Amino acid sequence: MSTAEFTLKNSEKLGNRLSWAAGLIIFTSVVLTSGTFTWLEFRREFDQQVSVLRDTAVVFGSTVSEPLAKGDRRQVQQALTSISRLESFRFAEVLDRNGDAFAEMGFDTLLERRSGELPQGDFSGFLISDDVWVSDDVIHGGQEVGTVRLLADISNVRSAFFFNIGYNLLLSLLLALLATAASRIVIRHLTLPIFNLSQLMTRLGRESDYTARASEAGKGEIRLLAQSFNRMLEDIETRNRQLMEYQETLEARVEERTRDLAEAKEEADRANAAKSEFLATMSHEIRTPMNSMLVSSELLASAGLDARHQRYADIIARSGRSLLAIINDILDLSKIQAGKLDLEKIPVSTHGLVKDALDLFFKPASDKGLDICGQVDANVPEEVIGDPTRLHQILTNLTNNALKFTEKGAVTISVKGEQTKEGAFLRFAVTDTGIGIPPQNAAQIFDSFSQADQTTTRKFGGTGLGLAICRQLVEAMGGKIGVDSKEGEGSSFHFTLPVAALAALPVKDSAAGEKPAMVILPPTASRRVIVDGLRRVGHTVTAVSPGDVTERDIQHAELIYTLPALITELPSLPPDATLVAIGALEDAMMEKLVAAGTVQDAILLPVSTPQILQTATRVAQGKALGAELYRSKPEASHHTAYSDARVLLVDDNAVNREVALLALSRFAIEPVVADNGFDAIKLASDNEFDLIFMDCSMPEMDGFEATRRIRQQESDAGTAPAPIVALTAHKAETIETRADAAGMDAIMVKPFTIGDLTDCLSNWLEKQAWHGQGTESGDLAADEGTSAQTPEETSPVLQDGVFDPAMLQNLRDIAGDGFEVMLQQLRALYKVNASGLYAELSHAVEHDKAGEIGRLAHALKSMSFNIGAGRLGAICQNLEDAALGNAAAEQTMTAMFADISREYDLVMFELDKISNGSGSKKQEAASAAG
Ligand code: ADP
Repeated sequence: MSTAEFTLKNSEKLGNRLSWAAGLIIFTSVVLTSGTFTWLEFRREFDQQVSVLRDTAVVFGSTVSEPLAKGDRRQVQQALTSISRLESFRFAEVLDRNGDAFAEMGFDTLLERRSGELPQGDFSGFLISDDVWVSDDVIHGGQEVGTVRLLADISNVRSAFFFNIGYNLLLSLLLALLATAASRIVIRHLTLPIFNLSQLMTRLGRESDYTARASEAGKGEIRLLAQSFNRMLEDIETRNRQLMEYQETLEARVEERTRDLAEAKEEADRANAAKSEFLATMSHEIRTPMNSMLVSSELLASAGLDARHQRYADIIARSGRSLLAIINDILDLSKIQAGKLDLEKIPVSTHGLVKDALDLFFKPASDKGLDICGQVDANVPEEVIGDPTRLHQILTNLTNNALKFTEKGAVTISVKGEQTKEGAFLRFAVTDTGIGIPPQNAAQIFDSFSQADQTTTRKFGGTGLGLAICRQLVEAMGGKIGVDSKEGEGSSFHFTLPVAALAALPVKDSAAGEKPAMVILPPTASRRVIVDGLRRVGHTVTAVSPGDVTERDIQHAELIYTLPALITELPSLPPDATLVAIGALEDAMMEKLVAAGTVQDAILLPVSTPQILQTATRVAQGKALGAELYRSKPEASHHTAYSDARVLLVDDNAVNREVALLALSRFAIEPVVADNGFDAIKLASDNEFDLIFMDCSMPEMDGFEATRRIRQQESDAGTAPAPIVALTAHKAETIETRADAAGMDAIMVKPFTIGDLTDCLSNWLEKQAWHGQGTESGDLAADEGTSAQTPEETSPVLQDGVFDPAMLQNLRDIAGDGFEVMLQQLRALYKVNASGLYAELSHAVEHDKAGEIGRLAHALKSMSFNIGAGRLGAICQNLEDAALGNAAAEQTMTAMFADISREYDLVMFELDKISNGSGSKKQEAASAAG
């Protein structure tokens, strides 16, 4: 409402209007009253004048009756003369009986003119004329003898009347004005409270200040009005206060509710985190004994049981692995949900990812008769930044599912680059020709514990967790996961990964030049990948099915890609054609053809684009690998045997002991073993050793102390000191000083190589002049550099960054022929021993016991290095250094332990995969459930 609505013009003000009304009323009443009185007064005056005139006329009539009857005009005239002396006289006439003028006196001219219109002696004539007529009959002797008529001037009465009227009006006006002024004062006084009230109301309207009150000083209704108004204000104020209070309490209540809700949410989050934490811990806790159980069941299964017990042991092992797979999934999911998923951001090879997944699933796919291949588009960078382990996990999960749900056809793993508005992405897809997914189920299969339909579990097993984990991982990496599927025709699961940029498309993939190439293969997915790859190199490619090859066509081909089994059946080949065989590494025929020089190069199954490009470029450039593919195994090397040497091996760690034992066995040494310092001292006092290998870090008594005591013993007994070689996983210089001070002769850093051991033995035992026989050490590579392509390297262990290939090679060197067996044993020992160490380490970190942490991290490190788990070893080394203050730590010990924990899980996971042989925990679950 605008303020204009609250202001009034003067003429609109109540006081003014009342004053004017009062003035008008007073004026009207005074005019009416005085007018009436004036009227009555002058009426009376008029009547009185007329009455006097009438009387005069009567007297005059009686005076002239006789003269008139007699016709005495003089007498009559005399009488007229005496009348004319009257003050108001104007005119008088005497009419005879016939009405004719007998005698007259006065202004007759006037009379003539007026005789018809002059008013008679009644009042109505008075208003229009100054004169008035009165007449009377003249009676004589009882008979009418004539009439007298008198005209009198009453102008004095009339002018007095009008004067009075004017005077009254003026007086009335004056009175009215006075009354108005007086009433104004009175009214003002009376209406002031109302005015104040209206002012107050105006202010209220403007300022909404309901605390103001109207004055109740007025009287009567005005006081009543003010009181009522104040009552109303009080009511409004009370209501306002209540509203405010309500509003305040409402806010407080809303705040309280919000707080309650936030607390409830926090509580729920805490409960959820606790649940995830609990799940993670529980899964972890279950996994440790499970691992031991599995190892035991595997050992049991290989203990030469009878068929029935063997079967039971197998079932235990299989079910155990299946359970472990599920627990691993739950552990993963709960870790993600507890927010403990730390994604790595390191360079990842895209080609490597595809190759790893293909290699991992090639055997299971072949067993099912399925084709499996990998397609990588030209715009995919060879290296991107990401988390290799998690990407590998997603790809293997999807590929495993594809294989599980496909009975015939192919599984293709493909990667392509996509440039969108949001940036550059890699799009990974795993496409199968399996059962497909009904559209209504496609959305929910990415939820935890969801399967496309209930029959899935019965038929294929599984928990419905794999895709949920994949989704969470993909989303955590900033990508999206989805599926395109047609029931009965197959599915394509795809996910994106944001990358910095896509690779620039090469004009041509190599400088190979164009050559006519022919791919003779059934129309499989692999054939498509091969044809695409060859075209990318620049070749003109014809793809034909084996039955459709004609002699004429083949004559044009300079490059022929086909299966080894088909080569002998081909029509005569053009003389300078290059043959490339496509087959598995184990394919004996392929090896034969290569060795015979029939084929110049080979594409190994499973095929993938990078591999096709490499081979095709090689071939086109005339650098076909040929026989090199199946290079003969390197010359066996010989080691000196020290079969008579008396060696004491002291190490508290079973894994390390096992490695050392195996390594020594390569030199025909069977050492006496001690797993603590006290036993070592005792054995040293009871025996004479040619060489003692002494682990430095041992609980209760470390290697330095044990050495000191042995030296003391020797000096007490006066015997020659045995050479003591310190075994240590420390690289610190202080170790040398400490070893020296304790009386040690040399140091061998764990994990040692067979070369280190050879040097060490030759140094300390040669002196003793043994002449053991040479022993052939199986496949020990003389030149480590050339052993890179041995078939073992395609085993799951070598496929993963968790294990360091160099370390594994070292192990292979140490173990020789017994590598696989040794690996199995080490694995079993590692699982049992490392889990204990890990638990202790976790406890020590939790309670911040630096000394303990250092010792345990050291033990876990050396054990991990010994099984080739280089990354875990290195992280343990960092923690050890931090705990012992050897190096300034960049992270807290808790953070380092978190890294250890993650890597430890991976190592355990990989070890499980090796024990499966399939390389997949999910596959394990499926096979166990089936
Ligand atoms: P699991 O395989 O352990 O049951 P997943 O989360 O990996 O759990 O898969 C959930 C469900 O999605 C499967 O049970 C299956 O019904 C469906 N599914 C996944 N992959 C495929 C596929 N390649 N073809 C058909 N169905 C699939």
